[in-house]
Amino acid sequence: IVDINGASAIVTGGASGIGAASARALAAKGVKVVVADMNPEKGEAIAKEIGGVFISVDVTDSEQIKAAIAKAEELGTFRILVNSAGIGWAQRTIGKDGNYDSAHNLDFFKKVINVNVFGTFDFVRLAATAISRTEPLADGERGSIVNISSVAGVEGQIGQVSYSASKGAINGMTVPIARDLSAVGIRVNTIMPGLIDTPIYGEGPDSEAFKANLGKNVLFPRRLGTPDELASMVVELTVNSYMNAEIVRVDGGIRMP
Ligand code: NAD
Repeated sequence: IVDINGASAIVTGGASGIGAASARALAAKGVKVVVADMNPEKGEAIAKEIGGVFISVDVTDSEQIKAAIAKAEELGTFRILVNSAGIGWAQRTIGKDGNYDSAHNLDFFKKVINVNVFGTFDFVRLAATAISRTEPLADGERGSIVNISSVAGVEGQIGQVSYSASKGAINGMTVPIARDLSAVGIRVNTIMPGLIDTPIYGEGPDSEAFKANLGKNVLFPRRLGTPDELASMVVELTVNSYMNAEIVRVDGGIRMP
């Protein structure tokens, strides 16, 4: 079991939802957390609450990623990266009016891939370079990376073409990245959350009904998951030194209709 007490971590998307819960859970284990997010208001508040540091980062910008890594290296021995930043809009393949462009234009698709896939990969490669320079722990491990994909990466809903493609890509990257990084003692795992109660679903008037309806697909318990239930798995994958190259569902047994 990895002793993460005193190590430093970066949590992307750490200002909200699954990322914020992961930042709190890691801090509770004595980890010094850099909250890396585009939302300074929420990000600063979480960092203050957990005694960590907020840094404004757009994961599509390599220079901003490097600044976050420098911050983590200042705080302690940088060993942990959690990639939770992501965007998840739904757009159908063709519009109800039969116009393909009104529904799912390619600029939109590229944006989702840019943030969810390239943002995740760029953070992985830059962080892994930094982690690879640290002193190894007793069994040769230097650190670990946890990516957040989605069950949508294997069984997307209506309108989830670009989102599912992006999350499937994160699943697909997991094993080859883990193979590459095994050479420098870094474990890599990915979590596929089911339907988790976070602001990602928006705050519109139909939001509650939408979420309640989604929760019906969960086998047991029949509800959405909580960010803390995801954060618990993030911590487990971080400390469990024999978990590697795994893509694990945390979804209450959800099966899409
Ligand atoms: P959330 O909206 O609460 O949090 C996402 C955070 O990512 C936000 O704070 C946002 O500011 C940040 N972010 C977005 N784009 C960014 C960028 N370019 N650079 C830096 N930060 C950026 O959502 P969440 O539900 O906590 O989502 C976290 C991850 O979990 C996402 O990758 C999401 O796709 C995934 N996920 C969520 C669910 C769910 O049901 N909530 C299910 C499956 C997967």
